Amino acid sequence: MKIGCPTEVKPQEFRVGLPPAAAAEAVGRGHEVLVQTGAGVGAGFTDDDYQAAGAKIAPDAGSVFDEAELIIKVKEPQAAERKMLRKGQLLFTYLHLAPDPDQTRDLMESGVTAIAYETVTDARGGLPLLAPMSEVAGRLAPQVGSWALQKANGGRGVLMGGVPGVRPANVVIIGGGVVGAAAARVAVGMGANVTVMDRSVPRLSYLDDIFMGKLTTQFASAAATAELIQAADMVIGAVLIPGAAAPKLVSRAQLSTMPQGSVLVDVAIDQGGCFETSKATTHQDPIYEVDGVVHYCVANMPGAVARTSTQALGNATMPHLMALADKGWRQAVTDDPHLRAGLSVHEGQLTSPPVGEALGIAA
Ligand code: NAD
Repeated sequence: MKIGCPTEVKPQEFRVGLPPAAAAEAVGRGHEVLVQTGAGVGAGFTDDDYQAAGAKIAPDAGSVFDEAELIIKVKEPQAAERKMLRKGQLLFTYLHLAPDPDQTRDLMESGVTAIAYETVTDARGGLPLLAPMSEVAGRLAPQVGSWALQKANGGRGVLMGGVPGVRPANVVIIGGGVVGAAAARVAVGMGANVTVMDRSVPRLSYLDDIFMGKLTTQFASAAATAELIQAADMVIGAVLIPGAAAPKLVSRAQLSTMPQGSVLVDVAIDQGGCFETSKATTHQDPIYEVDGVVHYCVANMPGAVARTSTQALGNATMPHLMALADKGWRQAVTDDPHLRAGLSVHEGQLTSPPVGEALGIAA
């Protein structure tokens, strides 16, 4: 099959859909790979890296979309890209169609078959193509939070690990899922005093087991949250209620109970944020202050580490990409119900019931 990888065109997107290692794997299995010139630059991969992997370099997006039978990307296709999609072509990327009627209509009109990363499932009930980005955002959270804690950035000038004779930072993580566990791992590694809160007792038991006393777990009642934030140097928001906006767990009034210069890192900002005072920020201008509390609310945190994120996403998509290319999409989704869960649009038909429900379109 001819696999095409265009350069991402969404602003601030530095990842690329196909890292050279995945290109080499596809070429090794007899597929042809076409990569737009410069597609990997944001993630630190040159055209030469792709050529060494056996891929061909295309001069522009038009040639990739024209020639490829399967298009692999990162972000949902933008309006100009949607015009280049056609019937019989397969699109494999993040789509996030539910809040996006324009994209849904364009994909249906194009006749393309589209499989969304974010709804592909696994045998454990997880979302394996979303999880790597949650891992990245979670591990990044204490890193960016510790930067914000520095005095010059508006923070209270507390070192995560403290020093002998001076206590480490108190880090409270609300939500102990993929993001929360990854954040805990790094915060513990930095030497902070870490508490993870969740509403799921089995999840707290799991974290208690795997961290073996290196952190404290706490059921996330409103009262416990109110108490713990008063002594927190950093609070990381990492909750998710699937399909719903994030619940607001720290109110504006509560900010005045927190230490001046403490830091809120709202990873859940892509679902509206879990602190009342959160508003989305960018990598260019990531922090702002409300009532003496520094807020970090970047909605696409993995973009800060585009190279790591590209490799992590490529590792997760590769087995599915190979199945699609080796067998064709129809056989691949017939053989694998988890991949079928990603099938969103096919030849003018919406095939994802939750998206249909959100947009009022039959699916
Ligand atoms: P997850 O489903 O693995 O974990 C969410 C956890 O939140 C679960 O353990 C759940 O029990 C817990 N929870 C739900 N309601 C709660 C409440 N009221 N109080 C305490 N805990 C509660 O989800 P995840 O993959 O860890 O993602 C967490 C959030 O991070 C999501 O909103 C996701 O979209 C977001 N995210 C953001 C970025 C970014 O760049 N900003 C990147 C990746 C993920």
